[in-house]
Formats: sequence, C-alpha cells, structure tokens
Amino acid sequence: MSVKSIVMIGNEILREKSAAVDFRTDPVDRYIQDLRDTLHQVQREKKIGRAIAGPQVACMKRIVYMEAGGQKIIMINPQLTSASQEMFEAWDSCFSADLAFFGKTLRHKTIAVHYFDENGTAAEDVFEDEMSELFQHEIDHLDGILFTDRIIDNQIMMRSEWEKLDR
Ligand SMILES: [Zn+2]
Repeated sequence: MSVKSIVMIGNEILREKSAAVDFRTDPVDRYIQDLRDTLHQVQREKKIGRAIAGPQVACMKRIVYMEAGGQKIIMINPQLTSASQEMFEAWDSCFSADLAFFGKTLRHKTIAVHYFDENGTAAEDVFEDEMSELFQHEIDHLDGILFTDRIIDNQIMMRSEWEKLDR
C-alpha cells in the first residue's frame, strides 16, 4: 500500500505542467500503484470520485488513473486528438478541492484521446458525455488547469446541495 496525501488547491504545484513519462527510465509501475492506492483510499473516504492525475499526488508526470464501475483506464502521455464543437454543462469537483463543492463547467461532448497504456502500448479511444468530461478534467491537471478555471457563470454549490440534484 502506498497511499499518498492529496495535493490541495492553493498548492502551486497543481499549476505546473507535468513532464512526459519516459517508459525507459521512469518507475511507471510505482506511479500506477501510488495513484491506484490513493484513489481507492479517497473513494472509501468520500464515496465518490473516479479518477486521479499524477500532480494530485505530487507526481509531476503525465499519467491519469481511472477506476470506477468495474472499468479501469490508465492513460500515459494522453493527448486530445479531437474535441467536438458541441459542448455540454456538467457539475464537477475534484479531490484537490476535497470534493467539498461543485462547479458548473462547460466541456466538449465528445473527445478522442491518444495515449499509452501501462505496458506502453498506444491506444486511441473516443469518450462521450460523463467520460468525456472526466478525462478532460484529468488531462487538464497535467497542464496545470483546474476545474475551477472552467466554472461558468460563477455557478458553485456545496456537496450537500449537489447530493440533492436529480442526476
Ligand atoms: Zn481533479
């Protein structure tokens, strides 16, 4: 087990751009283990949350770990190869905001992402709606962008109110 503490908003490292993972020299397995263990811990504590990005555990590498609903996707060096002009609104939060509040964000409805999996095999997948929003959020972390930067019309609500939403 290697549960890391979550880097919280206000810590300037969340604003840094992460470096590409080098499969030859970087301890990719350790990065993945840290992200997985930390994600599982936060999921147990907070009861929500589907993914985590390197910078959130102070690992300034371009890696995203997603695991929820029986699905697991590890993205290394992900790049958006296309993004729909069509946008949609989604309530979003972040482990780095302690999932304490949600903001209404505007996201691409569909994206295509090129990435490498944990074995270094290249993949390209298309994501829509919720999954599209999720990976836009995580890939933003690799560029030092936070969901709070994406909030539209200053629309924010606390988690207790978000829980009451009909989703
Ligand atoms: Zn986040």
